[in-house]
Amino acid sequence: MTDSETVTVGRVLTPRTTFEDAVIAIEDGHIASIDERADDDAGGSLSVPDGIAVPGFVDTHVHGYAGHSVEGDADALVGMAEGVVETGVTTLFPTTTSEGRSPLVAAAEATVTAGERDHDGAAIAGLHLEGPYLNPDQRGAQDPNALRDPDLGELQEIAAAADGRLARITLAPELSGATEAVQWARERGLVVSAGHTAADYETASRSFDAGVSIATHLYNGMAGFHHREPGVLGTALTREDVTAELIADLIHLHPAAIELALATKGPEGCMLVTDAIAATGLPDGEYSLSELDVVVEDGVSRLPDGTLAGSTLTMDDAVRNLVESVGVGLPTAVQMASAVPARAMGLRDRGRLAPGLRGDVTILDSDLQVQATLVGGEIVYEREGV
Ligand SMILES: [Zn+2]
Repeated sequence: MTDSETVTVGRVLTPRTTFEDAVIAIEDGHIASIDERADDDAGGSLSVPDGIAVPGFVDTHVHGYAGHSVEGDADALVGMAEGVVETGVTTLFPTTTSEGRSPLVAAAEATVTAGERDHDGAAIAGLHLEGPYLNPDQRGAQDPNALRDPDLGELQEIAAAADGRLARITLAPELSGATEAVQWARERGLVVSAGHTAADYETASRSFDAGVSIATHLYNGMAGFHHREPGVLGTALTREDVTAELIADLIHLHPAAIELALATKGPEGCMLVTDAIAATGLPDGEYSLSELDVVVEDGVSRLPDGTLAGSTLTMDDAVRNLVESVGVGLPTAVQMASAVPARAMGLRDRGRLAPGLRGDVTILDSDLQVQATLVGGEIVYEREGV
């Protein structure tokens, strides 16, 4: 482990400005300075002359990667963390799907073990429970047999097993006991999001007033917009205090749906997530998502009945899709993959490139392919030939 790195690139995107031909100096895992390169500077410990340095991506909703799933297995979580750095992700929140109590407790314990382990991957910032407290009418690919009403005793057991590493809960606010669960979670500083929900406008508004702050994969797992019953979608689109997740694979969402969210909320209210499953980064074929069988064809993951089942999206693909198919500028697309999710999860030490923040840096080429990734100032990925 080295204490300092200098990264020389063609361009650096910071919150306020763009540096051309710049050097990022990193000391003790944090950015010390970002400066234009002096002519006599002969590179640095990592030199990518045509590279674009952007803040490392933060994926707050990810179920698996490259054969690894979020389950009671710390090796799988570390495998995910080490895999996703090739997609530019430097922080991830492993996300469960709806399961019985003991697999969720096991996933919480695995998050603790993985979080304490030294590895060359993305920071594992905490566990995201997507369910099991979700509405069966909007279940998508969540196992219907595992869905239930919020249970404080169960939440307490999972939180105890997670030992401070439970970060977020996605639940349906209309379920019996949801109000108490939201209050319980907010008292403990957990982030709560509304997802797989059939809540009406009033119920959704009350939950957002009570501290629910994210709409899980906006548009997916909720009713479409209706002008007399705007539902969770209409509530989330019109409230500044709600951050919307977007699965920008252009399969879950039409580009116009992404444009609508951007037009109503602004990019600072929209964050990219992958919702990726274990099949991500692997060929088409048959996989599983918790207890359910999944078929991946042309990169699209579905249950046998055709329901979309997570995605095989990567964060770098999501950023490219926004730039190339939605017409979003690169700085804005990058912000939606880094600063917005970091802020939504309460992480103040990352999400931007600025002195004092973590040395989490993703270097893209001009086609926006990931060339190299640094986590906490350490080079954890370099594409061959860089
Ligand atoms: Zn979901």
